[in-house]
Amino acid sequence: MTDTNAILLRLSKDESLWAAPLVGALDTLLACADKNIDVDTASVWQFAGKGSQMVCIASYVRGLGVVPATGVLDAVDCPAYFDAMNGHRVLAVDDAQCDPRTKDLTESYLKPNNVHALLDATIRRAGKMVGVLCCEQRNTSRGWGLAEIDMARGLADLAGQLMLISELRRRDQLQSLLLSLAPELGQNHTEKQLAELALKKLVQLFPGIWAAFYRPDPDPGYLQVLSYHAPEAPPAYVNAMQKVHLDSSVLGIAIRERRIVAIRDAGLIQFNQGEQSKALGVVCSIGIPLMHDEVAIGGVIIGVRSQDVIGDDELAAFSLASTSFAVALANARNVHELRHRALHDSLTGLPNRDKLQQDIEHLTGRGSSGSELTMLLLNVKDFRQINDTLGRGSADRLLQQLAERVSAFSRDMGGQAYRLVGDEFAVLVSVGGLVVNSRAQAELLQKIAADPLDAAGLTLILRTRIGVASLPLHGADGYELLRSADTALAWAATDVSGICVYDLLRDTSGPRSLEMVAELRLALENNELTLHLQPKISILNRKLVGCEALLRWVHPRFGNVPPTSFIAVAEKADLMGLLTLWVAKRALQHACELRAAGLDISIAINVSAHNMVDMEFPRQLESLIAQSGLDASALTLEITETVLMSDPDRAATVIADLAALGLALDIDDFGTGYSSLAYLRRLPLKSLKIDRAFVMELTANLQDVHIVRSTVGLAHGLGLSVIAEGVEDEATLALLGELGCDMAQGFGIGRPQPVSDFITWAKQWP
Ligand code: C2E
Ligand code: MG
Ligand code: MG
Repeated sequence: MTDTNAILLRLSKDESLWAAPLVGALDTLLACADKNIDVDTASVWQFAGKGSQMVCIASYVRGLGVVPATGVLDAVDCPAYFDAMNGHRVLAVDDAQCDPRTKDLTESYLKPNNVHALLDATIRRAGKMVGVLCCEQRNTSRGWGLAEIDMARGLADLAGQLMLISELRRRDQLQSLLLSLAPELGQNHTEKQLAELALKKLVQLFPGIWAAFYRPDPDPGYLQVLSYHAPEAPPAYVNAMQKVHLDSSVLGIAIRERRIVAIRDAGLIQFNQGEQSKALGVVCSIGIPLMHDEVAIGGVIIGVRSQDVIGDDELAAFSLASTSFAVALANARNVHELRHRALHDSLTGLPNRDKLQQDIEHLTGRGSSGSELTMLLLNVKDFRQINDTLGRGSADRLLQQLAERVSAFSRDMGGQAYRLVGDEFAVLVSVGGLVVNSRAQAELLQKIAADPLDAAGLTLILRTRIGVASLPLHGADGYELLRSADTALAWAATDVSGICVYDLLRDTSGPRSLEMVAELRLALENNELTLHLQPKISILNRKLVGCEALLRWVHPRFGNVPPTSFIAVAEKADLMGLLTLWVAKRALQHACELRAAGLDISIAINVSAHNMVDMEFPRQLESLIAQSGLDASALTLEITETVLMSDPDRAATVIADLAALGLALDIDDFGTGYSSLAYLRRLPLKSLKIDRAFVMELTANLQDVHIVRSTVGLAHGLGLSVIAEGVEDEATLALLGELGCDMAQGFGIGRPQPVSDFITWAKQWP
């Protein structure tokens, strides 16, 4: 065996050669050429695609070793050379600069590079030339020996096999890429996820490339980037990638021609950033259109930067993959559209209630705890009437205009607007949810909504009501936030300002009150409740004649809870029986303390509707009084007209029993209910207590004067004395005296206070 054959055999048996990537393997061959043929440079060239161009894919220079492969040779420019190559296995040219076969190369290549002799071996597949292994001698001409020619031919054959293997491997990769796409594209992706998937797959195959995935821009004629992969690209270049014009991009041509388009080298210059792309090492730009139903719905631009040849196989694979991607993209867009429609209102385009729920959940979800959320819930006063008067069409346009205003307002607030149903809108703001601020926000929104509007030739001013609630102040989660805002909106309907901020203490319905009931039970057990005493005096001689016991609850979290709110809750929860007995017992204890301090006055307690229909109540009170050792006159009961009216007959029976015990009975809040005089006349009462609503503005309101005067007349006519509550100043007290009122109670005389303070107060009362 000749040396040449032995060397080639050894090389072909080297497994690492076959395992290496193509360029690395070719470099090994070139090093071998350098060593055994003793040439100045050696390189491998390959035809790219179907064209006439041959691209250098590996290059070796003596003394330097492997160098970056650059250069393109077009068959059109040197027909003689290509003719000769086609006709021979090896072209051995001793004096290249004078040889007719290489004459076309002389001026453009041989002379500038000082090349004098060439030994070029063709790389063939199925008889056809697919590339060349090229050896060059510089400085002098040279006669090539037989062994050298054999060596070149042998290396070219090996190169051909390596190229074939690499191509098969690449085809394999492409195939598995296509196969792996189907299941991945079957999943529910958003457009962006699809774009990212496409780029990920591309980069897996061609690690050196830059690529960007585009979708049509709202601006016609433009494409906008959805996702891109361009590591190391300068920021300005990346910036210019974000939005490209169809006319100045390879993708534009591809979309026009509805096929994949690849533009190489010089051709790149015509495009947006073409010069710069070339300078950054992009050698080929590929546009892949994504067509669906004859319409371009997106596309990919690939910038090939290495000498990674993207040939026909790759383009064919891209074409196949692009069909699948186009379908998936169209699907994603449809799903997005459907989802959008499910979460938005078709009339105004605003997000709807479902979206609101989602957003609240998102904003209050895990990871975003501590964020404050304020919700303004708005509706239009008398909208039904507007609807009936104007007709549906005009009313709809009105709602659209209102939606724009609400939307603009929420944008300014950094929040989001929603249309819930009909004329109900919501604004959700996720920062600074302070109640103080939110009331001001609501006022502003109300003002904006009240700007005159045109509807059906009329100028209308919309009056709106707004309920406000915030998290975490008014609830634990989004559900409670909505509920609280709803409650506040319901209150706003009867509020003069039309705006209500949710108030936990005012909310006596719904699940919040259940919580309160549980806590109130606990408070009863734990003695968290107390009674404050407020004095009643005789107007004539200013003497202390009695006091009223008023319940107080200091809640561990909410602080002072007003009795009106927790009593309403207790009534609904059937807790009043217990509560009143507790009050009576505690009041009797206080009565003993007062007597010990020399104050022999009656304590009035308030009773509720429940007590007045409870036949057991008189007996229970009787036993409490007996236990206290006091006389029944130590206790007075205040009963409101409303309480009596819930079941007048039964109440009359209970009242008779109570009176029989020796208890004094007063009608509380007189004037606010609807009891009939005939009924009152039948009851064993002691006093009428005029409601503070008629007393507080007495000196300024003549009507109140008439009411008080006639009430006094009426009461005296029935043999009852009269108490005025809510007396805040001396002038009122004096006027009440002139009007014939007997007793008075109010902040102007003394505030409700704990029993010890009350005793101190009484000792210094004139
Ligand atoms: P009420 O029985 O009419 O009690 C009088 C209310 O007027 C008390 O409010 C008292 O603080 C307030 N008041 C007294 N003088 C003045 C004044 O000069 N100016 C003003 N602005 N207010 C004055 P409070 O303590 O908030 O009680 C409110 C209501 O809660 C009571 O009205 C009563 O209906 C109910 N309530 C309080 N304690 C009990 C109780 O133990 N049992 C029952 N069933 N109801 C109670
Ligand atoms: Mg009272
Ligand atoms: Mg009252």
